[in-house]
Amino acid sequence: MDNLSNIKKAISRAMEGEFYKSRFKDINVEDIKTMEDFQKLPFTDKDDLRNAYPLGLQAVPDEKIVRIHSSSGTTGVPVIIPYTSKDVHDWAVMFKRCYETAGITNLDRIQITPGYGLWTAGIGFQAGSELLGAMAIPMGPGNTDKQISMMIDMKTTVITGTSSYVLLLAEEIQKRGLRDQLYLKKGVIGSERWGEKMRARIAGELGVELYDIYGLTEVYGPGIGINCELQSAMHMWTDYFYYEIIDPNTGELVPEGVTGELVITTLEKEGAPLIRYRTHDLTRAIAGKCECGLEYPRIDAILGRSDDMIKVKGVILYPSSVDSLLATIDGVSSEYQIMIDHLDGRDILTVFFETALDGDSARTLEGTVEEDFKDKIGLTPVAKAVPIGDLPRSEKKTTRIFDNRY
Ligand code: ZN
Repeated sequence: MDNLSNIKKAISRAMEGEFYKSRFKDINVEDIKTMEDFQKLPFTDKDDLRNAYPLGLQAVPDEKIVRIHSSSGTTGVPVIIPYTSKDVHDWAVMFKRCYETAGITNLDRIQITPGYGLWTAGIGFQAGSELLGAMAIPMGPGNTDKQISMMIDMKTTVITGTSSYVLLLAEEIQKRGLRDQLYLKKGVIGSERWGEKMRARIAGELGVELYDIYGLTEVYGPGIGINCELQSAMHMWTDYFYYEIIDPNTGELVPEGVTGELVITTLEKEGAPLIRYRTHDLTRAIAGKCECGLEYPRIDAILGRSDDMIKVKGVILYPSSVDSLLATIDGVSSEYQIMIDHLDGRDILTVFFETALDGDSARTLEGTVEEDFKDKIGLTPVAKAVPIGDLPRSEKKTTRIFDNRY
């Protein structure tokens, strides 16, 4: 079946629930005759989901719901996503496919450091591992000593987690000189934007191949796409959802290769189907077929969040451009933090970066960072070098840009 028929089926199913029944009350599915008609449907945004709290998104009768998850909303009301047993199964099938795409087999031992519970991460990594037949080591987050001793004793071959937590583990292992006692081959890193420098550090310190896994709680959870061994970009499992990439300001589709916001329509989801859901993740479509042979289309690694774009002195600052800028400067480590303050009527940008250098060498490096920012981003910051390990690492997501102006 083509995309349009699949999408129309998904819309009809979604409209059996109260949420889309009322949102689409003026829409007749039979009138959607082309993809252009579909692209005129209104977007669904996170606030719409919050307003449906607690179970307003549920689109099937109670007896079909087997589980809920909740998005880790840092502000206000959480979003509750109900799952049917088909949803839970489909998610595990996609996750298993992710592991297989990363070359992971039933002989692997997968240490799971993301959290379990309402958050979708841990349980998704676990369900995919079990369906694959690998041995899951369900650690959950934290307790670095225990993580490392289990990694050694259980002969863990695959480490999973956020990039910042896996970096923290890598640094500890390096510090304690335990690398020769590890059996790690691969790392599957979820749902956080991370730069090339951080990737290189984790890969280097642990001696592993790294894979970016993509996903969000509103659309199953992590596991709806991953990069293949060619590391070209992330393949997306489009038999389960349809995606578009739009200009976050105008809502229009952007051409292939142009950065925009990822918008997802679920095709198979029963518990809480979503039509044109704005993920706020920035990425771009990668043209052509991947040489690995997989037919699934590809998107680039997530470049940031459309709501993270920050305007300072009239210049738009993307976290990803800071990553790429710092990656080119020798001596600057992967960890940084940016503070934006408003003092005496002026915006002040301070860039804290970690470095192994100190004294005059660190001062010189601060000068280089300031110059490069001015040349490549068009903003002059105050750069401050701090020792390695000084900036916070987080088990969940690391916030790097703090806007203290408002
Ligand atoms: Zn590929």
